[in-house]
Amino acid sequence: MDVITRFAPSPTGFLHIGGARTALFNFLFARHHGGRYLLRVEDTDRARSTKTAIDAIHQGLGWLNLAGDGEATYQSTRQQRHTEIAEKLLAQGHAYRCYLTPEELKEMRDEARKIGQPIRSPWRDKAPSQKTPDAPYAVRLKMPLDGTTTIADAVQGTVSINHQQLDDLVMLRSDGTPTYMLAVVVDDYDMGVSHIIRGDDHLNNAFRQQKIIEALGWTQPIYAHIPLIHGSDGAKLSKRHGALGVMEYEAMGFLPEAVNNYLLRLGWAHGDDEIISRTQAIEWFDLGGIGKSPARFDMEKLTALNSHYLNVMDDAAVMALIGDDLTPPLAPMIKTRLKLLVPAIKERAKNTNELREMAEFALSDTPNIDPDAKTLLDAPYLERLARFADDLPADVGDSEATKIWFETWLATHDWKMRDVAPGLRVALTGKKQAPDIILILTVLGSDEVKARIRAICNNRA
Ligand code: GLU
Repeated sequence: MDVITRFAPSPTGFLHIGGARTALFNFLFARHHGGRYLLRVEDTDRARSTKTAIDAIHQGLGWLNLAGDGEATYQSTRQQRHTEIAEKLLAQGHAYRCYLTPEELKEMRDEARKIGQPIRSPWRDKAPSQKTPDAPYAVRLKMPLDGTTTIADAVQGTVSINHQQLDDLVMLRSDGTPTYMLAVVVDDYDMGVSHIIRGDDHLNNAFRQQKIIEALGWTQPIYAHIPLIHGSDGAKLSKRHGALGVMEYEAMGFLPEAVNNYLLRLGWAHGDDEIISRTQAIEWFDLGGIGKSPARFDMEKLTALNSHYLNVMDDAAVMALIGDDLTPPLAPMIKTRLKLLVPAIKERAKNTNELREMAEFALSDTPNIDPDAKTLLDAPYLERLARFADDLPADVGDSEATKIWFETWLATHDWKMRDVAPGLRVALTGKKQAPDIILILTVLGSDEVKARIRAICNNRA
């Protein structure tokens, strides 16, 4: 069987972390089987589907490298086809026109709820002659009156529902628009979708969708309903837990590789493996590895993975991250500094924001001094710094040589590291918190170190 999966987000909010995981699982499953992974934007709710949200879906998927194969399908463009199928079901007697007015329907719904029965419109069994042709009508599916429907779900196992619990579902509303339930079935069929992998909040819909498929005589897809993601406290994932738009993770400094790896492990396992590359994931991914209970979102784990991916990133890619958004391009001198700096800071930074902050001192010759760091540059400090600038040899050597020179120099003056290093760090980087002082000295080189110290001293004099 050709494997075709799809990710079918409704663009009514941003692409959040749960949606991204669904996309990832669909992508990996399709790639694992050499199949296709399609994107369908379910934008039928015209009032709530915004262009901003549609753009955010494409942007988020693009960032995670999970864009669908080929062009995306927009559900709103397929209304005619949905209607055609509803008409076909009508003609075949699997569906009926229901002329209940909104008031009658409300009354029926209240009554049905009271007795715990599904809605069965009186129009279901009326002879055609009894119908009122000019009144607006909805098209409803004739659900079986007894028996059960069973789904062999690849994650949930065998799940059944009693038909007595199923309403005669509406496929076309009385204004002629198709419902989600009908549109999903028709689109999945037309797109050739073989496997539906989605959140288990859709399991109840699957029973209803199966009934439409059955009435049409189409082949049932294979379902895999994955448990939703919960917060670290076990409650349903909300903003408070990190259920943010995907691009907010980029803004927080996460790498797409780390987010992908984290999402993969969130609800899917391959033994104890934690660090899983995309190639490896494609090779290993299967539906059997998806857990049955909700996974908990854990920011610390994501952060640890992010540190790992930064750490193993090659230097050129890290340089690109730092210099990426800068125009004009970095000067050769700055590039030379970064080449020395990058191997050290990529090991220390937990995210790209930290990384950029650690590199900031190398990007400009006149770093801004943080207001809270200024207090460190008092008169005794400035005196020591001036001495430092005078004594520093023009070419002090590599970091090992710099360290030895610095320690010897401190000893000569009977100073400790703490008497000099904090002020030196502020003078050279503008910050109290900055990478290791020896690293800063090595990266900047003697001339630049002297120039920065003298600029500070002259300013204060
Ligand atoms: N559009 C639906 C949603 O965003 C998903 C429909 C489906 O996967 O069948 O929840």
